[in-house]
Amino acid sequence: MMWVADCCFVAGVMACLEYAGAHSHALHLPDIRPQTALPFVRELCAAAHRVVSQTDTPVDLLSLLPGSPRCPHQRDLSGGVMERRRRVLAAELPDPQRRAVLVSASGQFAGHWVQAIPVADCWRARPRLFQLALCVRLGVPIPELDVSGGVACGACGMTHDKYGRHPSLCMRGNRSYLWTERHDGFQRAVQRALWFARVTTRAVGTRNYFGSANPPNKELRADLVCMHYHGMGRHLFIDVAVTEPASPAMTGGARSSAEHAGVAADLRAQKKHSKYREACLRIDSTFRDGVIERYGHCGDGLVGLVRLIAGAGHREPWETDYSPTATSRVTHVAQCVVFGAVMSDAAMLDAVLELDVWGKERVEGGRRG
Ligand SMILES: [Zn+2]
Repeated sequence: MMWVADCCFVAGVMACLEYAGAHSHALHLPDIRPQTALPFVRELCAAAHRVVSQTDTPVDLLSLLPGSPRCPHQRDLSGGVMERRRRVLAAELPDPQRRAVLVSASGQFAGHWVQAIPVADCWRARPRLFQLALCVRLGVPIPELDVSGGVACGACGMTHDKYGRHPSLCMRGNRSYLWTERHDGFQRAVQRALWFARVTTRAVGTRNYFGSANPPNKELRADLVCMHYHGMGRHLFIDVAVTEPASPAMTGGARSSAEHAGVAADLRAQKKHSKYREACLRIDSTFRDGVIERYGHCGDGLVGLVRLIAGAGHREPWETDYSPTATSRVTHVAQCVVFGAVMSDAAMLDAVLELDVWGKERVEGGRRG
């Protein structure tokens, strides 16, 4: 992790130089231009060289030193290093399913859940769920499943893979409403994000909003509705989903999820639009999809929804208290939404382990109200 320390050091020193440059008069600093003889400047140059040697993105730090300092974010410095390491890792992974996990877990907003600050109940989770979520994304075998002879799936009888992927791929995976509860957990996260932006939202449940605009012999029920969002009688409907990018169908298609981000999310979003768009237009309302992949990649529709929820980037001073790790409202809303999806998925996996490894019965017996 030496390069992380290098990026921290370079970003920190550049920030100090920028501060010293801005306040040189008040600080009685006659000349803050770095002198190459100073030990910290030599160390800065060495650290910058090490960062530059590990990235394909041009980082021209040394040219910044003689002139007026500019403060690069640590993310600017480490982005190219991370990208190169991701490509090396993808080339080393043996099967397309694991590459699909990597692609999805490094997709749009996918890593934001790690930075969610637990200042409210909805942003807290049991340590067990954190452990499971990390194991699934890092490709670390789950100890309960990594036993000789394997563990049989109680729904379909197949043997669980040791990485916890089977419950989401199982043909009968929604036993005891496991998938439904994962979906509902993600739906609540999206609803909470809308409340954060003071948008009144309700779960549609069994209400029939479409009436005669429904297709023949069908009643459409999106997940959420923001009543009168676009004006009197003009609602915004949202339908959310957690989808699986590491299935054989997704990795084996012409556009494989093992190579491209968002293949599974795009497909599910298209289906949702073809289902709801026409009916929504007929009642002067609009539709948005909120599709996230199991390993964290947010589909373009969900990214648009997050930006809509967060507004035009305006941030109140007190909002720093909510999340010091978020640099903008968009990041904060994304943290909340992705955290809900990741923990709902980990809760589903935990429930599967309790059923199949420990033989426990499900107390709730299915979907909660
Ligand atoms: Zn199964």
